[in-house]
Amino acid sequence: MRVFSHQRLGQIPQLVRHAPHLMESISLVARVLPFKVNDYVVNKLIDWTDVPNDPIFRLTFPQAQMLDAEDLEQLAYCVRNEGGEQQLNALIQRVRDGMNPHPAHQQLNAPSLDGQLLQGVQHKYAQTVLFFPSHGQTCHSYCTFCFRWPQFIGDKSLKFASNDGEQLHRYLARHPEVTDVLFTGGDPMVMTAAHLTRYLEPFLQPALSHVTTIRIGTKALSYWPYRFVSDTDTPQLMALLRRLVDSGKNVALMAHLNHWRELTTPVAEEAVSALQQLGIVIRAQGPVLRHINDSASTWKRNWEQQVRLGIVPYYMFVERDTGPQDYFQVPLARALSIYNEAIESVSGLAKTARGPSMSAGPGKVEVSGTLDLQGQRYFLLKFIQARDTRWLGKPFLARYSETACWLDQLQPPQGQSEFFFEAQYRRFVEQGAPQGTQALVRGEA
Ligand code: SF4
Repeated sequence: MRVFSHQRLGQIPQLVRHAPHLMESISLVARVLPFKVNDYVVNKLIDWTDVPNDPIFRLTFPQAQMLDAEDLEQLAYCVRNEGGEQQLNALIQRVRDGMNPHPAHQQLNAPSLDGQLLQGVQHKYAQTVLFFPSHGQTCHSYCTFCFRWPQFIGDKSLKFASNDGEQLHRYLARHPEVTDVLFTGGDPMVMTAAHLTRYLEPFLQPALSHVTTIRIGTKALSYWPYRFVSDTDTPQLMALLRRLVDSGKNVALMAHLNHWRELTTPVAEEAVSALQQLGIVIRAQGPVLRHINDSASTWKRNWEQQVRLGIVPYYMFVERDTGPQDYFQVPLARALSIYNEAIESVSGLAKTARGPSMSAGPGKVEVSGTLDLQGQRYFLLKFIQARDTRWLGKPFLARYSETACWLDQLQPPQGQSEFFFEAQYRRFVEQGAPQGTQALVRGEA
């Protein structure tokens, strides 16, 4: 695999040939937002005759419009001014700080073991623990919209990574309520089979028999499908996954997919089939993104292709309030109409996709529809996951808005000062209560 960073733009022949005029702005924006692309994405996924409009190009190459025009100008000035390294770094930091690097109170979810805060573990919902293995905190290529971007810019305080699988396993052994573990990153599939074995093999032990589902979040299917086909340690990786499946674990690959074009190569189809032959279920998820996939026809084609390949359409997410959100954001009303129009036009097997969902601080909130009541229009919302399980199963209303893009931009109905969960959520934030200790916070345990 050949990987290109912003210092190596000149080594991408297609970019030099098709879009030399974009190289300066790509290089500037890439000083703020992480940039990395591999030769598979460059050679097989991007349609260079359609650059700069090509969705995979926009998905991987930073665009000038992702930064404020004034910031971009200042960056260009600082880069030209050779003596200004300190000034340049301060500017980069300021722009990054303005991009909400920690959305949705992610630190809230950090659990502890024997009085020590666990690095790289989030106990987000009662049944589900997320693990960020330190060797998996990078990706085969980076997505320009990624909400994990702080992990890739070298700021240690923004990372959640851990290389301590042993602590994870001990924590889980003490939490029999946990049935699902999600390995996430970055992309855990950048790890060698040897590293993955260290993290995953202990799940075969009786002490972790209550963990019945192992989810692996990855974009390798589209950014580096060779991982499941022909890398040097692919046989060991596939043998490890087979052992887990044969032991009775449900191994679910959560594929990050943004556009149907990502799975159109023969090697991607081969990778899908190789995983399915092991008994692994692949579920597809991704956000709705302006400039990339903000049309019903794209989502219809996404879901139809996924069903054809035996992949389960799972989530349409709303882009998070971080990074270059202004460039990508799609208002909730528009996301809902894209979802409705696409879902109406696909067969029942593709209707497994959940509607526009926000992974917000209080939980995962789905925009289920709209409702007209006494001359007012509302969004109908519901928690799919919640920091307090009592919030589940309680649909709630928010005043309809054509422009709101996130939960905190929504207003409760007239006569309500706030949504029903807000006071308690504030207490969680104030007390820093991770999921596993919420009963204590409520005085119920
Ligand atoms: S593959 Fe996933 S984690 Fe990696 S950059 Fe893309 S969205 Fe972010």
